[in-house]
Amino acid sequence: MMRIRLIRNATLVINYGDKTFLVDPFLAPKGTYASFPNTANQVGNPTVHLPAPINEIIEVDAVIVTHLHLDHFDTTAIEALPKDILVISQSDTDAKSIREKGFSNVQTLRQVSTIDNISLSQTSGQHGKGEIGLIMGEVSGVVFKHPDEKKLYIAGDTIWCEDVEAAIEEHEPEVIVVNGGAAQFLQGDPITMNKEDIYRTYKEAPDAIIVVAHMEAVNHCSLTRNELKDFIEDKALTVNVIVPEDGETIAF
Ligand SMILES: [Zn+2]
Repeated sequence: MMRIRLIRNATLVINYGDKTFLVDPFLAPKGTYASFPNTANQVGNPTVHLPAPINEIIEVDAVIVTHLHLDHFDTTAIEALPKDILVISQSDTDAKSIREKGFSNVQTLRQVSTIDNISLSQTSGQHGKGEIGLIMGEVSGVVFKHPDEKKLYIAGDTIWCEDVEAAIEEHEPEVIVVNGGAAQFLQGDPITMNKEDIYRTYKEAPDAIIVVAHMEAVNHCSLTRNELKDFIEDKALTVNVIVPEDGETIAF
């Protein structure tokens, strides 16, 4: 049975097919970093504490880094992780910079298509629209499959877009983790999913369970859990969309 534990922000610990994966480790104490530039709510990041000790969080078989923004792979994680742990990155470029941080076993999602009986497939996304999306750069998601597990799609830092639609069509995931929070700069549209994006994801995959991460942990996320939960209740989707607290584990 698969278990997904939301640590904080996009950081997840996933037990899947007898392996344990750490996704997007962002492990600094509350308030370690400056707020993101050109954003509202100028408070330090992360905005909340970790819900568990770091040594417990990093006891995993492999780490998946969907992209290299600070809130997905930070200095504290880089210092804490064993340097010989398998790190799976989205591209050769990201792999190179992760190696430069001292990691000796870095692969790309394209290279690691299976681990034991678990298959990993890379998906793409859009980290914002237009010019902001271009500045935010390349992002990825990943689909996990295993004969004894539900199909799991971690969408990564993406808004609702054709890439997400295509990933759902191709892989028919039964569990989908999306990054909500509606992160935003002072100008332009959100760079992670807002309520409407999450609703469109549900419309595309009405039989899947959607788990919303990336909530209430970095300064530029404007969508709160309470606001999202109200929206989910209004749409009668409380069975379909789950908004876990930091530290909460969900089993499927
Ligand atoms: Zn992010």
